[in-house]
Amino acid sequence: MTLIDKARQGRITTEMRTVAKNEGVDPEYIRKQIAAGRLVIPRNNHRKNIDIEGVGAGLRTKVNANIGTSRDRNSLAMELKKLHTALDAKTDAVMDLSTGGDIRKIRKAILAECPKPLGTVPIYEVFVNATRKCKSKVTLDTEELFDTIELQAEDGVDFMTVHCGITRVTVERLMKTNRVTGIVSRGGSFLASWMAITGNENPTYEHFDRLLKICRKHEITLSLGDGLRPGCLADAHDRPMLQEMIFLGELQKKALEEGVQVIIEGPGHMPLDTIEANVSLEKSVCNGAPYYVLGPLVCDVAPGYDHITSAIGGAIAAKAGADFLCYVTPSEHLGLPEPEDVKNGVMAARIAAHAADIVKLGRKDRDRGMSAARKALDWENQEKFSLDPSKFDVVKKDRRFKKKAGDKTCTMCGEFCAYEVDSKLRGGAV
Ligand code: SF4
Repeated sequence: MTLIDKARQGRITTEMRTVAKNEGVDPEYIRKQIAAGRLVIPRNNHRKNIDIEGVGAGLRTKVNANIGTSRDRNSLAMELKKLHTALDAKTDAVMDLSTGGDIRKIRKAILAECPKPLGTVPIYEVFVNATRKCKSKVTLDTEELFDTIELQAEDGVDFMTVHCGITRVTVERLMKTNRVTGIVSRGGSFLASWMAITGNENPTYEHFDRLLKICRKHEITLSLGDGLRPGCLADAHDRPMLQEMIFLGELQKKALEEGVQVIIEGPGHMPLDTIEANVSLEKSVCNGAPYYVLGPLVCDVAPGYDHITSAIGGAIAAKAGADFLCYVTPSEHLGLPEPEDVKNGVMAARIAAHAADIVKLGRKDRDRGMSAARKALDWENQEKFSLDPSKFDVVKKDRRFKKKAGDKTCTMCGEFCAYEVDSKLRGGAV
């Protein structure tokens, strides 16, 4: 039985209790949301020591960090370093998007050291293997695809991105659309090319039941990918993108009926004033399923700073109801991220998620605590309330020097510290 089956029978499992406790909500609420497909707990049957995380309605907005090799940079040691950097920065989930080196070995090593839910995009491994066999043409063997999905499920992957919404219909629409950046999803571009060349239907759409069987068996959460997500503001909300979302909504309904947990993936690049409508659309078309957005990036012209462009969009999306933010690092559009990029990406996404949760869930206590500590010049508690205490500590040690005994101010204003002046004023000392 899957988690959804149990939820529908009225059973409250240990996972549901853990999420309820962590989020400060009633376990019965968690059960009901899982049964309705509005909340997921990604956890493969085979995974033992994993931090249970819930994603969806009424919960803290979660953050995912993508790591993984490429053909040109495929060091396992580097990927493990990035994994631990993401974990130290308190990511809620990790995706291994490796396309270089020994992909299975890398996945297993990451799984062994990752206590958070781990996701993959199985079609990457399929296309990498196919390309290694034959460089001259795009090939896809349906059996190999499903074998790879099953293999990754057996390895312990908790959630999988599968681009089931790219169908012959969506590809046909895409070819008639004059997009500026075309297809920007790696999996989507491989799949659509293969479909356009062969005229075949997408196997994960055509044999969706087979995919659901594997998911049921291993308790895999499906992350229905947006292979036709817009890669620039000009392409946002065009017909292929909307067509794909409609298919994803239909597939989510079918998966839910079969007791398989589903997340819906979203863009990408979107003008700031369309983000709220996009989230409403997903919630409506996809039956309230958890929404997992990449960014969204609110402008196209800030390479080197796309952790910021995406955090701006992420905060708006999360406030509007998006449940899961996939980080974007400063090296987006430039190259494979380094550990420092991973750290900056996770922190930017966490800040966006936190800013949204203050208003979405009314979680104001931490900010209130920080403000009180600032006013009291209580540096110890300020560090405690910081989203990144390690950064706080480094900057504080670097900038608070040459102090007289008892001086609690910092080097910004020193003797003109407004907090101190205000305290003296209120205490009647000035
Ligand atoms: S010195 Fe200035 S910056 Fe530093 S704590 Fe006081 S008011 Fe804030």
